[in-house]
Amino acid sequence: MTASDSKSRKEMMSPLNETVARPSMCPFCGGKAVDTLAKVITVTTYWRCRECDKTWTIASQTPSPRRT
Ligand SMILES: [Zn+2]
Repeated sequence: MTASDSKSRKEMMSPLNETVARPSMCPFCGGKAVDTLAKVITVTTYWRCRECDKTWTIASQTPSPRRT
């Protein structure tokens, strides 16, 4: 009986390797001219808006609950 087969599967499910959809607009000004230098798009990919020149990542763009 071998019980170690399911262990190696978890490495392929790393959230950093997940491909995500490219943002359709800038979260700051709503401009559609967003650009990136990354070849692989992940949640930590930096995006830049050509209209307001701000940068962001999808990870930081996702609203997270904050305690005040
Ligand atoms: Zn913008």
